[in-house]
Amino acid sequence: MNIPFVDLNAQHAEVVSELQSAIDAVMSTSAFTGGPQVERFEKRYADYCGTRHCVAVGSGTAALELLMRAYEIGPGDEVILPANTFVATAEAVALAGAKPVFVDVRDDTANLNPHQLAAALSPATKAIIAVHLYGVPADIDAIGAFAREHDLILLEDAAQAHGAEHRRRRAGSLGDAAAFSFYPSKNLGACGEAGCITTDDPAIAESARMLRDHGSKEKYRHDIVGRNDRIDGIQAAILSVKLKRLDRWNHRRGELAARYDEAFTGHPLIHPLHTRPECKAVHHLYVVRVQDRDRVRQALASDGIATGIHYPIPLHLQPAFASLGGAPGDLPVCESLADEVLSLPMFPHLDEAQVDYVCESLAGCLEGVHS
Ligand SMILES: *Cc1c(COP(=O)(O)O)cnc(C)c1O
Repeated sequence: MNIPFVDLNAQHAEVVSELQSAIDAVMSTSAFTGGPQVERFEKRYADYCGTRHCVAVGSGTAALELLMRAYEIGPGDEVILPANTFVATAEAVALAGAKPVFVDVRDDTANLNPHQLAAALSPATKAIIAVHLYGVPADIDAIGAFAREHDLILLEDAAQAHGAEHRRRRAGSLGDAAAFSFYPSKNLGACGEAGCITTDDPAIAESARMLRDHGSKEKYRHDIVGRNDRIDGIQAAILSVKLKRLDRWNHRRGELAARYDEAFTGHPLIHPLHTRPECKAVHHLYVVRVQDRDRVRQALASDGIATGIHYPIPLHLQPAFASLGGAPGDLPVCESLADEVLSLPMFPHLDEAQVDYVCESLAGCLEGVHS
């Protein structure tokens, strides 16, 4: 058996004819950037998330960067974020001229540990970015309470959490504003690059709209220095088609995750990361912790199973952030996760037999290992 880590072909086979007509419709109007398809998608996605506004942009990274600009986060400011995340979360902060302050994560969920916030706080702290990593909403009750108490902006990096819920509220509506990515392999993915910002704050939405389009509200009048981070009409039309299926696809991911969970229950050497009871996770990734991870990964590969590592180097130890002075031992949970995490195949078009095969292969290659 050959099991890919993610199979986008299977997803496309399901929607190809609808995608084709959505693309044709954009071609016939030549509304290639901005336009009615973009507005339609923004309205639908804001409704989906339960926010007043959605501003679609060129990528998830752009969404994060524009949020920094919209909130006027810049030189002299500090932004607290977990070190176990994709690099873009911190890049946005650094590119804005602000300082990323990395904190450790919870051992069970691998998401930001709210108990670490107090030590990271300084008079320069302006915002916290709660990352809903792997599709599990961050501990938003505690993080939100801390943000309110210290008058900090609370941003969500929801790039892996389309449709995830915390106490029945959706990711994207849990802080002051959120960034989503529609990178092709995300739970909701474009056929190319795309992302968006969601918020209830009309001033932030307006500022993001201007920033994505050269600081302009009115053609050739530029009120602020912006950039070009618009989304393609074709991508917006594609996203509207796929959005209709997002809940079903997320539900299917949940079934597959439950099947993995069940197979690993009580296994002494395979430790799946957890979700939290007050949440509905959307299983962007299915991540287990194992010892001797690289050998295990090799063994799975020789059984035809592709896996991923999210992420092998915590951000405080990345060469790109060396100037911040992070050192091994600073964030012990992030560092042990980096050595132990293994992401198993997870996508809605995976089937039960494939999951069972992965579980058998993983258990089998751990059989000869001493704990
Ligand atoms: C994918 C991702 C991003 C970046 O999104 P792009 O659309 O690839 O720019 C940011 N943060 C996290 C947590 C992600 O997973």
